Amino acid sequence: MSPSSPASPPASIAERVTAVRSRIDAACQAAGRDPASVVLTAVSKTQGAEAIDAILATGQRVFGENRVQEAEGRWANRLADLPGLELRLIGPLQTNKAEDAVALFDVIETLDREKLARALAVAAAKLGRSPRVLVQVNTGAEPQKAGVLPDEADALIQTARDTHGLNVEGLMCIPPADEDPAPHFDLLKSIAACNGLSVLSMGMSGDFEAAIGRGATHVRVGTALFGERNRP
Ligand SMILES: *Cc1c(COP(=O)(O)O)cnc(C)c1O
Repeated sequence: MSPSSPASPPASIAERVTAVRSRIDAACQAAGRDPASVVLTAVSKTQGAEAIDAILATGQRVFGENRVQEAEGRWANRLADLPGLELRLIGPLQTNKAEDAVALFDVIETLDREKLARALAVAAAKLGRSPRVLVQVNTGAEPQKAGVLPDEADALIQTARDTHGLNVEGLMCIPPADEDPAPHFDLLKSIAACNGLSVLSMGMSGDFEAAIGRGATHVRVGTALFGERNRP
């Protein structure tokens, strides 16, 4: 191909953000929902400084990260300059990292066992900082996947709130990769309703429109915003 070929260059991050935002708006319209009722969490795991600068320039301020230490490297030195930044932990958390997670994150989406609830409460008391918490539910009961089993979710939510005093505001799920996600989104929504929880973090690049149709309040989108991730 000659350099003057009109073949379109790869979409820029700004163009991808615009495209994802308009798909969110369209999904909200189709579902009769206010677009302001859905928060776009940009999943910034593995991204370099250039990509982060580009997405910040679009006004995006809510980010999801999978690993505590990686997130510290990416965000700790930017926090002071970015009022309104919201960091959400969306990957599994070991109890020995609970204090670091409480120090950095505004929301921890992956509470899935009582031992971790206790560690988060201890860290919150020590640091005087209480991130909001979502309980991750393993809606497909997949053995390799994190999350509390659906049958055990009510008990964990109650213990986290009542025994440990955590600010549990909702639920998160990652449906099985090879299934229709809709029944998983519905299950998450019904567990949330039973427990008086309003936040539903569900839907990723491949299924965020379906999740919005089923009541998602937060969609976690990586690839559709940044392009394919660099594999470490
Ligand atoms: C990586 C990741 C995402 C984003 O996935 P994409 O398919 O790239 O949009 C969302 N949620 C969790 C928990 C993830 O680990």
